[in-house]
Amino acid sequence: MQAKNWCGIDAVELLKIFDTDVEVGLSEEIAKKRHEEYGANELPEPKQESKFFKFFKHFNDVLIYVLLVAAVITLFLGHGIDTAVILMVVVINAIIGYIQQSKAEKALEGIRKMLSLKATVIRSSVRREVLSSDLVPGDIIVISAGEKNSADIRILEAVNLKVEESSLTGESVAVEKSSAVLPNDTVLADRLNMVFAGTTIASGSGIGMVVAIGSNTELGKISSSIEDVDRLQTPLLKQTAAFGKVISSTIVISSVAIFTIGYLFHDYATADLLLAIIGLAVAAIPEGLPAVLSIILAIGVQRMAAKNAIVRNLPSVETLGAVSVICSDKTGTLTKNEMTVTSVMLKDKELAVTGTGYSPNGSIFDGQNLVQLADYPNLKELLTAVKTVNEANLRCDEKGDWIISGDATEGCLLTLAEKMKETTQRLPILSKIPFDSNYKYMAALVENEQSKWIYVKGAPESLLKMTGLTASTVEGDYWHEKMFQHANKGERLIAVAAKQVDVTTCFINHSDMESGFRLVGLVGIIDPPREEVIGASQQCRKAGIVVKMITGDHKDTAVAIGVQMGIGDGKRVLEGKDLDRMDDKELAQAAVNYDVFARTSPNNKLQLVKALQAEQHICAMTGDGVNDAPALKRADIGVAMGIKGTEVAKEAAGMVLVDDNFSTIVNAVKEGRRVYDNLKKTILFILPTNVSEGALIFVSILFGTSMPLTTVQILWVNMISAVTISLAIAFEKLEPGAMERPPRKPNAKLLSPYYIFQIFFVSLVICGGILFMNMFLTDQQINPSIVSTMTLQALVIAQLMYLFNCRSETEFALNRNFFSNKIAFIVSIILIGVQLLVTYMPFMNLILGTVPLQAKDWVWPLVIGVLVFTIVEFEKWIVRHAGRFRKVR
Ligand code: ATP
Repeated sequence: MQAKNWCGIDAVELLKIFDTDVEVGLSEEIAKKRHEEYGANELPEPKQESKFFKFFKHFNDVLIYVLLVAAVITLFLGHGIDTAVILMVVVINAIIGYIQQSKAEKALEGIRKMLSLKATVIRSSVRREVLSSDLVPGDIIVISAGEKNSADIRILEAVNLKVEESSLTGESVAVEKSSAVLPNDTVLADRLNMVFAGTTIASGSGIGMVVAIGSNTELGKISSSIEDVDRLQTPLLKQTAAFGKVISSTIVISSVAIFTIGYLFHDYATADLLLAIIGLAVAAIPEGLPAVLSIILAIGVQRMAAKNAIVRNLPSVETLGAVSVICSDKTGTLTKNEMTVTSVMLKDKELAVTGTGYSPNGSIFDGQNLVQLADYPNLKELLTAVKTVNEANLRCDEKGDWIISGDATEGCLLTLAEKMKETTQRLPILSKIPFDSNYKYMAALVENEQSKWIYVKGAPESLLKMTGLTASTVEGDYWHEKMFQHANKGERLIAVAAKQVDVTTCFINHSDMESGFRLVGLVGIIDPPREEVIGASQQCRKAGIVVKMITGDHKDTAVAIGVQMGIGDGKRVLEGKDLDRMDDKELAQAAVNYDVFARTSPNNKLQLVKALQAEQHICAMTGDGVNDAPALKRADIGVAMGIKGTEVAKEAAGMVLVDDNFSTIVNAVKEGRRVYDNLKKTILFILPTNVSEGALIFVSILFGTSMPLTTVQILWVNMISAVTISLAIAFEKLEPGAMERPPRKPNAKLLSPYYIFQIFFVSLVICGGILFMNMFLTDQQINPSIVSTMTLQALVIAQLMYLFNCRSETEFALNRNFFSNKIAFIVSIILIGVQLLVTYMPFMNLILGTVPLQAKDWVWPLVIGVLVFTIVEFEKWIVRHAGRFRKVR
């Protein structure tokens, strides 16, 4: 198709050009052919940073600068092997960082693909969802609020259609669109009969036809992509980066101090002293730490995706672990969203409906009698209205299962209408008001036997207002009583009302809905609760996480479902209109004191998030509609529904639930806690190695003894053993009590005083043990190469033993879960193998300056290892029994 100014061509002509039809759409065959001809509806990939540049970015780190300076100094001093090894460490570090970053980016990319855009099209007369990348020119598109457009679309029908075009025009106020033909030379911002790729539908609905895809769209012409790339940065990684800076300045300051001490008080040669200081700097830098931390986060993201929670950015993984309140929708999240109408209430009768699910097998009974439509004119009117004011579709698939497309509430109303033997009509619609959760109704203007009517279906309270019936009238009282009875059973209620209007009326809007209606009846719908949510909400309670239900449904329905789910006390409920009246202080109190909020508007969600945050809560909030986006953005973790959710909601959220299920949020919180715990454990594990190595060198300079380890040996310990061992922690399972303690405070320091104490305590034990060994061996006049080899082994064995201390923060290391992490054992075996190579392979001896050890030489390192393990377990035991653990942690 030649690109044209499609805004100037009328609909009939356009359909001819694109060889399509509004009702039928393209056939699948033609769509496939066009897909082959025009390609996928995708924008070209954005230009990536070159691989080379990405790799070199990993050298831009203060700690690496320190290492590079060390390399230059050793080179000048003629210690070529040291220089080579230091440089190798720097390069290996960059390689690990680079591979890790690419892997994390790939994982996020894969996750982004899981969230790829979809569009509703009409093909071969059937409405269906397709991937936006499969759209072809000529496709007929069903436009609805909350969708993100990925093609340029010419509007053929529009109902109150408003489009947010800021990504294209910079104008943030939504623009009202229509199908009217415009002059050919209309500028982009004024093409009101077009919807462009990259924009979102703010409200209303419509039908349109795809006129341009991929790079032929207006968006494609101006930019390559509008997706922002997620940054691989999290609060914790930022904290560790800042921590790195502290370490490097400490290293520089203490190096200068030690150099001065050594120079003034001992007769070291300058070169030896410089080498010792380089050893100290290299020892104190936790070279492998940043790589290990980002590996842990990336593994967390992947594990969450496998459990149906797609985290859209890395910081959310950490935040999830700190969540203290989960605010959840009801319909579809706590309940199954499988609706069945069970009762119909008319002005003078209550009818029962049999059958389950969307299958129309079932009947309507008046007491024991099967209902005949001819005898129930009100029922006939009600069924006509619910069938007409309805955007869903009901059909039987190839397997014979009845399925709906569209909204479940509307789908079950179609099933209800189908249960009558005598079919009711779906009347042609002249104008309609789509469902909006702010108004809570949906209406249509129809022509029926030369008269015009507005049919409306929606929340009973909203419709009762339109009828003017209050509880003080007999009829009003009757309907209120019915609402009360059914909502109390947890039923969802939909009311139906009608009003005759002047035959000249061609268009309706919300101002036509204020009065003059007659209530035709009520429909009671059951939506079974999800069984797994009951357990999940119990788990939340144990974990100190409060669950709140924020629903658009009736208050009695909400309370009844809440009781079944263990949310709320079965009595107290606040309505959206109550929240609207409150000031900030009252709102904060209400947000904390109530657990069930009913008849809420999307703005109430935003109010509640803000109020809870003001009370220092870390808040996860669910949402699906376009109007939920502000609350989702504001929440600490916005959670969008993958099935029910609009694209706008998904984009605003930090996490998307593939299965719309509340339990998935709880699983993600659990995973968040696991990730955070393991990040902390990794730091707790790695740092003592650096501190004790640093201390060993510090002490030997101070006392003028020979260096316990060479620079190369130190780097070996830091890079190979520390990194491999700490990877085992990444796979550590959630500790048994982790979902029984309250959420961590968001502003809690990464290293609590207790952690700092433990790091220094463990360093002291390792360093003390090795110093004692060295003193003993030096007394015995043992060869210094043997001593340094034994020191190296003692450090690695102590580290390995300490790994098993760190696996559980609180519990005894040899507990029930000792064998739960296979990786820990695999890593241990690999490490033992590698250490044997280091000791007995001549080639490794040459590089690392080690020598083969005799059996008796292993005794000291083993004793030190066992000592570390025992003393740390003893310390954990004391803290556990002193009962102070929780407080100091
Ligand atoms: P939740 O917020 O927990 O998902 P909800 O689905 O009930 O609950 P809304 O979608 O805002 O929230 O619906 C509010 C009310 O509007 C419902 O209780 C129902 O009475 C009515 N309603 C819902 N969907 C429709 C619809 N498609 N047409 C007409 N009325 C509807």
